[in-house]
Amino acid sequence: MHPILPDRTFAWQALEDTLRSLLQHSGYAEIRLAFLEHTELFKRSIGEVTDIVEKEMYTFKTASGTSLTLRPEGTAGCVRAAIDQGLLYNQQQRLWYLGPMFRHEKPQAGRYRQFYQVGVEAFGFPGVDIELEHLLLVSRLWSRLGLENIRLEINTLGSAEERAAYRQVLVDYLRQHESELDEDSRRRLDSNPMRILDSKNPAMQELLAQAPKLMDHLGGESAGRFERLLQLLQEMEIPCSVNPRLVRGLDYYCHTVYEWVTDDLGAQSAVCAGGRFDGLIEQLGGRPNSATGFAIGIDRLMLLLEKQQRLAPRPLPDVYMVLLGERAEAAGFALAERLRDQLPGLNLVVNCGGGSMKSQIKRADKSGAALAVLLGGDEVESGEVSIKYLREEGKQIKIAQAELPGLLRDRLDTKT
Ligand code: ATP
Ligand code: MG
Repeated sequence: MHPILPDRTFAWQALEDTLRSLLQHSGYAEIRLAFLEHTELFKRSIGEVTDIVEKEMYTFKTASGTSLTLRPEGTAGCVRAAIDQGLLYNQQQRLWYLGPMFRHEKPQAGRYRQFYQVGVEAFGFPGVDIELEHLLLVSRLWSRLGLENIRLEINTLGSAEERAAYRQVLVDYLRQHESELDEDSRRRLDSNPMRILDSKNPAMQELLAQAPKLMDHLGGESAGRFERLLQLLQEMEIPCSVNPRLVRGLDYYCHTVYEWVTDDLGAQSAVCAGGRFDGLIEQLGGRPNSATGFAIGIDRLMLLLEKQQRLAPRPLPDVYMVLLGERAEAAGFALAERLRDQLPGLNLVVNCGGGSMKSQIKRADKSGAALAVLLGGDEVESGEVSIKYLREEGKQIKIAQAELPGLLRDRLDTKT
């Protein structure tokens, strides 16, 4: 777990602003969720035989013996909150959240123990139009951020019944080849055989490529549903490739599943994952209802923005105010407050901690400010300020304090 340092937080905030604005402008409302949940919630929703529940959760007992877990993902908590707070009663919901998730994984580039996700969930939408909406949203995000080279992989898992029937077909096939399975897969043969398809073990790739495909065992309704979504994506010119082995690590998905992946991040290639999870609300004690959603890994998105040189630059001060002598102190802060009142867009830093003219100008320069506004005893006396241009040609000038807002306003106007 690592802090995000001040030289990076500006770019994080810019990304979060973009996300917020995009979601708010499409009818999504933010929900702020608990970071801690009963361990049972994740076991019941994500599934006992998954990487997350088997080995990645931070779980501990409280003094009274309750088992709690730091949230490894947001969907389970979001569904629980929506059920408990009556958000699902007779209404549709479009929700989003953003914040840290916790998984006990081996830390490496793009994989951390505290990482950040933006999650989007929609409840009460049974048709594939909502999947299309989500995929268009994500696609719009990529283009708004100027990102390239992210592909969409998509698959269908069918209904719960179709999955159950297919499961048997798959287990029969894998049993015939049990000696070729690795230890993890042999263990999953009984508990979670579909996850075997997801295995990255090179020795099993051939075997898995030959495995029966769920797609070939779908009923007409599920197949039609998937066809319809693919057709809509084509009409909206969202390229995608169907990956029959995409099953996702979490148990609660049905029908649509997808991942957005990139080749620019090495092994940690998935930046977004989502799909449909209609059964989950009922499983967690609510009335049966449809549910769809996705989550984007923000840390990976930041790495990708950096790689593709799309990180938002750090905003630099417009003005650094240099204050020389005791009299300039009160006068300078008063002037700064007036400027902030008059020019809400102004980025203004006032020197604190005193110092000679030379050392204050040095700080001004280091701050990245465009202008230094100097105020000494003489200027206070005459109601003036001196202006030193730090990034452009131009002699130091002296103007009346009353002229300063106008001069700065002109500069701010040309900046935007
Ligand atoms: P992976 O296969 O990379 O482990 P996942 O299937 O476990 O991903 P999800 O649970 O679907 O991931 O979470 C959605 C997104 O959150 C991922 O696509 C990824 O961008 C991000 N993510 C997941 N785990 C981590 C992590 N430990 N560190 C940083 N980002 C992560
Ligand atoms: Mg994982």
